[in-house]
Amino acid sequence: MVPRNPHMAHLTAGYLFPEIARRRREFLRSHPEAQLISLGIGNTTEPITPHIDLALTDAARRLGTREGYTGYGEEQGMMALRERIAQVLYNQLPGIDPIAPDEVFVSDGAKCDIGRLQVLFGYHLPVAVQDPSYPVYVDGSVIIGAAGPWNGTGYEGITYLPCTAENGYFPELSRIPSKGLVYFCSPNNPTGAVASRAQLEALVEEVRKKRSLIIFDAAYAEFIRDPVLPKSIYQIPGAKECAIEVNSFSKPIGFTGVRLGWSIVPKTLRYEDGTSVNADWNRICTTLFNGASNIAQQGGYAALSPKGLTEMRRLTDFYLENARLIRATLTEMGISCVGGDNSPYIWAHFPGRDSWDVFSQIMEQCWVICTPGSGFGPAGQSFIRFSAFGHREDVEEACRRLRRFR
Ligand code: PLP
Repeated sequence: MVPRNPHMAHLTAGYLFPEIARRRREFLRSHPEAQLISLGIGNTTEPITPHIDLALTDAARRLGTREGYTGYGEEQGMMALRERIAQVLYNQLPGIDPIAPDEVFVSDGAKCDIGRLQVLFGYHLPVAVQDPSYPVYVDGSVIIGAAGPWNGTGYEGITYLPCTAENGYFPELSRIPSKGLVYFCSPNNPTGAVASRAQLEALVEEVRKKRSLIIFDAAYAEFIRDPVLPKSIYQIPGAKECAIEVNSFSKPIGFTGVRLGWSIVPKTLRYEDGTSVNADWNRICTTLFNGASNIAQQGGYAALSPKGLTEMRRLTDFYLENARLIRATLTEMGISCVGGDNSPYIWAHFPGRDSWDVFSQIMEQCWVICTPGSGFGPAGQSFIRFSAFGHREDVEEACRRLRRFR
């Protein structure tokens, strides 16, 4: 048989969510009566809204007609959708450096694009991540050989930028490596923290000084309600020379299963030899990707119409109200937490406790599943992430049960 890719062996035991599922199954074996409620994963629960749903079904129906049938489309996405993303989601934001449609690349989701970006940049660049962070930044880097070996607390080739209660969940920037990649997520998964304009200005300044590149993950931008908080990195002067933004329709319109996202790769973004990152990304998309589903793209296009935007707002408001309920419950219980106001995640602190122990205690006492913070990186130890993605009655019941926590 063939030898194994040696980097696969460097992945630390168990991806976070399979491990949660294993513990949950084990608990249910001894407590079959437990009706567990999950505030654990970031999966959407509410149905696709009517205007967007109609666009999906119309698109599917058209495919069944000779006149309406289309096969492969442009790998970069439908031009009408690229234009609408640029126009509706970017070019009206305060301070935005305008985005051109050919800087928008439609994808089958932000996670898939992060994987393809890792292929684009390869294994030879130093990598920095916020700690804690969405696991794909680190695990994808491990798989391509960019992370080095595991040393018991972290990967040797990765610079962890701790985001803690002490620094207001915004990292110390001086540790950003030179000529490397910095993954930065705001609103953040898992902490729920949203970087201010001043913080993002400092990030862009430091990254430009270090001649590095930001991969800015804005998958939760549509949950931002405070008008002074930036929704895009391109609202920061100079970001078009140092940042790629990945984004997604998954959470704002419930497309977690439909699959649709996009990345912005500015034409002004250059490698050290002056060649174009946009041109290389186009090459990656045309080589490794055959374009997002034509049905999904029609759904995304409808979501950015006035009716679609109203539905998107209503749906994100719904999850934000869940977040408010969870955060209010935890706060009343005297548990200190952040997030949940411009983000669907609440990050709760249990000082001195092990995250997995708190996870088990909440599962056993409250029959609620959450996510142990340590699964997102060393600085997540002693934290628990609560997700606001759930039916309202489940969230209300979970809040009642959380009060049993002792
Ligand atoms: N980025 C972040 C920060 C996420 O939390 C998620 C999903 O939970 C994704 C990206 C994945 O998005 P998509 O469904 O578009 O692949």
